[in-house]
Amino acid sequence: MNNTLYIVVPCYNEEAVLPETARRLGEKLTSLTAAGKISDKSRVLFVNDGSKDGTWSIISGLHQSDSRFSGVDLSRNQGHQNALLAGLMTGKDRADMVISMDADLQDDIDAVDAMVDKYHEGCDIVYGVRSAREKDTFFKRVTAEGFYRFMSFLGAETVFNHADYRLMSRRALEGLAQFKEVNLFLRGIVPMIGYTTGYVSYERGERFAGESKYPLKKMLSFALEGITSLSTKPIRYITLLGFLVFLVSIAMLIYSIVRWAMGETILGWASLICSVWAIGGLILLSLGVIGEYIGKIYLETKARPRFLIREVLEERDEEAL
Ligand code: UDP
Ligand code: MG
Repeated sequence: MNNTLYIVVPCYNEEAVLPETARRLGEKLTSLTAAGKISDKSRVLFVNDGSKDGTWSIISGLHQSDSRFSGVDLSRNQGHQNALLAGLMTGKDRADMVISMDADLQDDIDAVDAMVDKYHEGCDIVYGVRSAREKDTFFKRVTAEGFYRFMSFLGAETVFNHADYRLMSRRALEGLAQFKEVNLFLRGIVPMIGYTTGYVSYERGERFAGESKYPLKKMLSFALEGITSLSTKPIRYITLLGFLVFLVSIAMLIYSIVRWAMGETILGWASLICSVWAIGGLILLSLGVIGEYIGKIYLETKARPRFLIREVLEERDEEAL
């Protein structure tokens, strides 16, 4: 049976939570293995993202005491998304399904059972979606939900209220491996992979120890990263703005001709005001057009896969096999 599960957990200065996290995830593996849902080769894979505290020595200790815990140590701090990718790509060659989650277990680990069930029902990607955010502070909730709305407004399609808690099959991970972009925003890329998807909703809890590694400043730059790496819509808004200003210039033209005919203008006003608006509009419009091409170049340089194949139906040549 193809049912080896890897649980990938990126860790940055997480010594306060790791022992408890490992204990709970170990229990989860035990119960899933006992239920026959995953193989006994399943592992918890901790990715140490260049932590400055004792995170890596805790991970090595865990590995020594129980071989179901393994670890990857990055050469330096690369940020959450890259650490996650490192874990996913390590899991890809060793597991049939990989679940990624945060070290602080804010995302209810009991949703893992439902995710594995969905995998067995044939899903390649299962998103964990937060049903309620009562345990988050008001500020975190408002900024986080505003973030999803703003992103989709600017053309970066993501799954609402889904962070990086998800299951991916090996096939989906192989698809992900073909996205070579350096500006990584996994939440936007994973939906582009396609295949059969499922959703599991859960309640988000509190961080049980340590503090958030995502202060507002990091969250803003994360949002900006998401928008600029997924969408070229902002460029289109410049074009639109240019067009609007140009329309205003036509209205101004009519208005100033009327004023001039009524003899209410000083010499030179009409021509001046019209050219200010018209030239401003034309400049914005031209910038937008140039931007459109730059946007195209930008997307081309990412060299994303143009398609992924789910299945091919054909006769097999038995002898060639
Ligand atoms: N993280 C990481 N590298 C970083 C920052 C964070 O690997 O540079 C990890 C962190 O250890 C945790 C996850 O990313 O497992 C999410 O961070 P956190 O829980 O602090 O974010 P929040 O839940 O507050 O958004
Ligand atoms: Mg957290």
